[in-house]
Amino acid sequence: MIGITSYGGYIPRLRLNRMSIFQSMGWFAPAIVMVAQGERSFCNWDEDTITMAVEASRDCLKGMDKSKVDAHYMCSTTLPFADRSCAGLVKTVLNLRDDIIAEDFTASLKCGTSALITALDAVKGGERRNILVTASDKREAKAAYFYEMWFGDGAASLLVGDTDVIAEYKGSYSVSHDFVDHFRGSWNEYDYMWEERWVRDEGYSKIIPEAVTGLFHKLSISMDDVDTLVFPCFFKAEHRKIAKKLGAAPEKVMDNFHEACGETGAAHPFVMFVSALEKAKPGDRILMAGFGQGCDALYFQVTDNIEKLPARKGISGCLENKKTVDNYPKFLKFRDLIKTEMGIRAEAPTQTAMTVLWRNRKMLMGLIGGKCTACGTAQFPKMDICVNPDCNAVDTQEDYEFADEPAFIKSFTGDLLAVSVDPPAIYGMIQFENGGRFMADFTDCELGDVSVGQKVSLTYRRRYVDKERGFSGYFWKAIPIPGTAPEVGEQEGMRFDGKVAVVTGAGAGLGRSYALELARRGAKIVVNDLGGAPDGSGKGSKSAADKVVDEIKELGGEAVANYDSVATPEGGQSIVDSAIKAFGKLDIVINNAGILRDKTIVKMEPENWDAVIDVHLKGAYNVTRPAFSKMRENRYGRIVLTTSAAGLYGNFGQTNYSAAKVGLIGFMNTLKLEGEKHNIKVNTVAPAAATRLTKDILPPDLLEKMKPEFVTPLVLYFSSDQCEDNGLIINAGMGYFNRAAIVTGPGTVIGGGTSVPSLEDIHKNWKAINSLEGAEEFPNATAAFGPMLDAFSPKKKADAGEAGSELTVKGIFDGLPNAFQADQAAGADVVFQFDISGPAGGVWYATIKEGTCEVSEGSHSSPTTTIRMADNDFVKLITGELNAMSAFTSGKLRIEGDLMKAQLIGKLFKF
Ligand code: NAD
Repeated sequence: MIGITSYGGYIPRLRLNRMSIFQSMGWFAPAIVMVAQGERSFCNWDEDTITMAVEASRDCLKGMDKSKVDAHYMCSTTLPFADRSCAGLVKTVLNLRDDIIAEDFTASLKCGTSALITALDAVKGGERRNILVTASDKREAKAAYFYEMWFGDGAASLLVGDTDVIAEYKGSYSVSHDFVDHFRGSWNEYDYMWEERWVRDEGYSKIIPEAVTGLFHKLSISMDDVDTLVFPCFFKAEHRKIAKKLGAAPEKVMDNFHEACGETGAAHPFVMFVSALEKAKPGDRILMAGFGQGCDALYFQVTDNIEKLPARKGISGCLENKKTVDNYPKFLKFRDLIKTEMGIRAEAPTQTAMTVLWRNRKMLMGLIGGKCTACGTAQFPKMDICVNPDCNAVDTQEDYEFADEPAFIKSFTGDLLAVSVDPPAIYGMIQFENGGRFMADFTDCELGDVSVGQKVSLTYRRRYVDKERGFSGYFWKAIPIPGTAPEVGEQEGMRFDGKVAVVTGAGAGLGRSYALELARRGAKIVVNDLGGAPDGSGKGSKSAADKVVDEIKELGGEAVANYDSVATPEGGQSIVDSAIKAFGKLDIVINNAGILRDKTIVKMEPENWDAVIDVHLKGAYNVTRPAFSKMRENRYGRIVLTTSAAGLYGNFGQTNYSAAKVGLIGFMNTLKLEGEKHNIKVNTVAPAAATRLTKDILPPDLLEKMKPEFVTPLVLYFSSDQCEDNGLIINAGMGYFNRAAIVTGPGTVIGGGTSVPSLEDIHKNWKAINSLEGAEEFPNATAAFGPMLDAFSPKKKADAGEAGSELTVKGIFDGLPNAFQADQAAGADVVFQFDISGPAGGVWYATIKEGTCEVSEGSHSSPTTTIRMADNDFVKLITGELNAMSAFTSGKLRIEGDLMKAQLIGKLFKF
């Protein structure tokens, strides 16, 4: 079997909010607003086609044996060298073998798919076994051109081979036409585009179907045999139409990513294909087409191996890791599209000595240093003598790759005097955890977010462009990884000295990890555990708690064991008494003990229901009640509860467990209020970890990554002095943390509070009742009752016309005819529909014709433009508190229909 054996992707972190192009250039090219939705990706100043290709290839080769790659094909229409093998450059950076073919495919947007077919043919022919095919593009367009909006930068890589195939290659079909929708002369900077309508009608919508139906005939298949259809086309409507013409239902068609990153040129078929593979299940059939002077269509079927592929960033990871900017001039500067004064220092010569580059290619391109074979010390750069003072062996160094080694920041500076496209230049010493260090430039970061101790990843980036000679010079730089910086003062660590903690169910799994880490940081621990079976059956054994107490003592900590069950009030009391007896007080309670008795509802006998409720829900009550009374005396307490995704979101076969776990949320919501004035904070963790409770449910490779230790820091944070929060629910697993909360929608009033709404009224208004748009979180039940009372308060009901009353939505529409500027309305013939959600909202439309404005309540059958907003935001917009452009870009203001006409509103109405 031959096909795809791995994939990788890279989209630069920077995204330009397309509206910012319109904001800067709309005065000149107003029509670009039509494609100004979402964001486009763009390269940092030090990124280009080569650096993106390196990142996509590294992602693709994750967990693969690089020494087995027999060829590298690099595909792009924007290679930085017209005569220097870019594939060869990337191959050297990746430290692939020397005895391979490295070749560039270029000059057409379908060069990626053509290279892929060539690679698959080569593997099929048996000449080579593993070929890396990388497509990358960074295309330029003139300012304020549609294409500036449509284009994005990106790269993707596919590994082709004959073993461990994740998507089997079934066949391909290609057509070649000299159809010139655009071209770029060898001496030109920008593409020259032909008329869009012609490109759409004669190009995309004829040539793509020609190749796809050709493939159907060749393989005797039809659209019924395709689960996902991947083809690039930045004309959104045409993309849909072509799919429809080919008989593909909308759910089969891969999104063209206009909103997320834009079209990434030659890389785009691969970017979309990688994204399809990320979502694919074994058995899925994917058809990918690449367009450009013809079309290639390829057909694949996903195999079981896809589930064994090691985790990688991929396209989805890159799309999540983004920094959106509104600074359009910055985008232009980063692409060298505006001239700025760089100062005399920038005139320093940048000629690259090819002799040095060749001699030191392993170090300069492959980031290869040395490792001493005598003592194992790693060092960069590689030298004849080992740097370890206890070794100093001579000629013992072997090659050692540093690019994927873990590293952190030793020191750094932000230098405003150094020449930089993005000042200040940030650089510093990075230390590899397994030995070796060097001075590195930092990239993809802001000075304020960098700190000593923060982890970094390494990336191959451009350092300079020698414009005189047309040469780009590259080296490795460090990217500080967000969220890995030690907190201020944490070098010594957040400590729990003098604190006493009870951890229930601490004999195993998560509880054991919490107890050990608390003890390591100075707390005295009551290790409670009954030592029963996972379903709570059996007599229980003391050994579980005793073992953890021994572990803590070995660490030099203090702990006592308690073997009581949390499931009875006596047990709870005794656990708290153990703390008081051994250590004289109690500061922290982590309610963690748990069992499972999964059964579907009909088979859920009362004893299984009760046992689970007793341990989780009543257990928390049994321990917390006596603990709370001790904490209240000390005016200090930290209580942690343990819920579960099963309760928060539901999980088949766990009604007992889900009920108990979400019951704890209600327990917390009220307890947090009772604890407030005594400095007692209550928070809840929803863990996901590999323990005996999950070992049979989760796949083995996932269990590997889900160590309880990943949850522990969050629980310790909830237990710390630093935690000022109360009533939070945080999901935690594998180092991923996110907050869950109960939120309440804005709701709607039906019947004005005077007449009882009918059943039909409920049906009619279901959308508004059910809406969570603008949903809010409330600190307590009284606050949650507020909006209901508010909806009928005189303030909400007042009309704008009434003296002294506040402006309301209804008041605004009543006053709209007065705000109308008839002198500005010459020639205007439009209907604006306003759909305002929320308790004070409603539906109105304004008809502007022949210099008059008529406002009516209700919906118009064919409005020119529809404006949708929440009531509060609408009032803010009218009173000038909210800016229309930021409301639009943040999604608070949604416009449907004719976007251009919406711009008339500001001119036609003055409040
Ligand atoms: P675990 O089985 O490894 O640990 C639970 C411990 O609780 C065991 O040592 C057990 O002996 C003890 N225990 C059970 N009943 C007890 C009782 N009546 N009195 C005292 N001790 C008792 O499981 P774990 O995964 O570490 O679970 C810890 C908590 O996290 C549980 O509340 C569980 O529901 C919750 N949780 C775990 C996950 C996960 O992914 N592991 C997910 C959601 C919630």
